[in-house]
Amino acid sequence: MAGRIPQQFIDELINRVDIVDVVDSRVALKKRGKEHIACCPFHNEKSPSFTVSQNKQFYHCFGCGAHGTALGFIMEYERLDFVDAVEALAADYHIEVPREEGAYNPQQSDNKKPVYDALTDASQLYIQQLKPSQRAIDYLKNRGLSGEIAKTFNLGYAPDSWDFILSGLGKTPEKIKSLLDAGLLIKKNEQKYYDRFRDRIMFPIRDRRGRIIGFGGRILDQGEPKYLNSPETPVFHKGQELYGLYEARQAVRDLKHIVIVEGYMDVVALAQHGIPYAVATLGTATSQEQISRLFRIVPEIIFCFDGDPAGQKAAWRALENCLPVLHDGVQARFLFLPDGEDPDTLVRKEGQQTFEQRLKAATPLSDFIVNHLSEQVDLSSEDGRARLSELAKPLIAKLSSGVFRDLMIEKMSKHIGLSSSNLQRHMPEENTQALQSQYKTPQHPRHKIHVTHTRLAVALLLQFPEIAQQTALPETLVNAEISGLPLLFKLHQTILQTSNISPSVLLERWRDSPDENALTQLMQWTIPESDQQNRLKQFEDAIKGLCRQHREQRLDILLNKSQQSALNSDEKDELRQLSQAQD
Ligand SMILES: [Zn+2]
Repeated sequence: MAGRIPQQFIDELINRVDIVDVVDSRVALKKRGKEHIACCPFHNEKSPSFTVSQNKQFYHCFGCGAHGTALGFIMEYERLDFVDAVEALAADYHIEVPREEGAYNPQQSDNKKPVYDALTDASQLYIQQLKPSQRAIDYLKNRGLSGEIAKTFNLGYAPDSWDFILSGLGKTPEKIKSLLDAGLLIKKNEQKYYDRFRDRIMFPIRDRRGRIIGFGGRILDQGEPKYLNSPETPVFHKGQELYGLYEARQAVRDLKHIVIVEGYMDVVALAQHGIPYAVATLGTATSQEQISRLFRIVPEIIFCFDGDPAGQKAAWRALENCLPVLHDGVQARFLFLPDGEDPDTLVRKEGQQTFEQRLKAATPLSDFIVNHLSEQVDLSSEDGRARLSELAKPLIAKLSSGVFRDLMIEKMSKHIGLSSSNLQRHMPEENTQALQSQYKTPQHPRHKIHVTHTRLAVALLLQFPEIAQQTALPETLVNAEISGLPLLFKLHQTILQTSNISPSVLLERWRDSPDENALTQLMQWTIPESDQQNRLKQFEDAIKGLCRQHREQRLDILLNKSQQSALNSDEKDELRQLSQAQD
């Protein structure tokens, strides 16, 4: 196996490339003011909302919300994983990618590696256990699953044992720690651990690069819970991942649509019956993040729900999460299954063709809205129709703008029996997506974020890393309990430790980390020109604000405590200092 690519090389590569060239050689860009624009390559559109900023070395689409660095662009555009994208980018510039020789250096390496390794090793053990377990094999056979499909999805079996994984893989304290971090073990007390998954069919969950990041386990017989998922871990974030997405992208080269179902077994059963484009959420409602990610891959999503009231309710929640991320060129549909059926049972009964006919006939999102709202009013009366447009208001308000919004209003007007211009007057002002305060993230409402001292400080540091050399962070804040502060400190430290740092190099350093999302959001903030010129003062003001916030928090805590018990001498000193402190 080739060695690791040195971090320093990646930094230098990112600094050397110009995102405008990188994008322009794949998607022709036009210059407009300071930015370069094009029709977005990640969603269908007629007028350009895809922008590339040379200053920030960052791209962003106002239509679908796609964004990232030059390297991120290659990954999305050419559908490459990180290492292949580095190779492709280097090839653009005729640079050879060096590889590190020799043993892997834990200091430099990704600290998640032991967790990924633990998950992969566990998956291998589960797979080995499947064959000798007649009950597990019978269970899968009864569901019509072939050995081949079990292999595609790497299905396995966790035996009915408290220490199968523990004794198989937890040979050293380090290994036990990795298994614990991976969510495979549960800690009972200081000395004792036991297996999380017992007597379950195991479904490995893979990320977009195909790495195993967690498991879903389905109970074999009766028992609760029916599905058990890995907990949140350093590599597994439920709201972001979708079960089966990696497999679907592997199976279908050019995906046209994706079906979202509720269970892992549904995904596998559909694939078995010739519908290899289903995914499942991981025991949560479909999040906006998941939906917008899917819309970057396919133009159409079909949600599949039970026909019962619980299914209707879940569908409505999915719809509400859909609205803010809908844009021209994409659509969502809703399929309600007959009572008592799920996709697994139904596709086994009906087969591929009939099930696909159901998918084709699924209710478009706009019809679902109208049907759902119409049930609550009497459409035959003038009052009822007026009430319907009232009910639709908050939903329409969630739509970003543009052709799609107009189409929705037109469609609704037909149902309501009003002219669309008439209905338009009833509708709220277009969503201008302004952020509270002057900072703008000109994009989806889902990206609206409040300006806090921490966020402002992080955004300034990220976009203008030279600030770190000009000002230190006060030590008093090291232990402050303010969210985002650890990120601020780490960012500050990383800048000081790295020569030639730039915003995009910083973003790449945080790729695949839990803070990656926060940083890319803050990269998108447009900091007003006047504040940019005063950035050092702005930064220092934000830090002062944080110190003030920390002081007030400590004051509250100490004052509260002093009312209940005596303060020790350190606390008394602290309280005295806090009460005297000025800005
Ligand atoms: Zn786009």
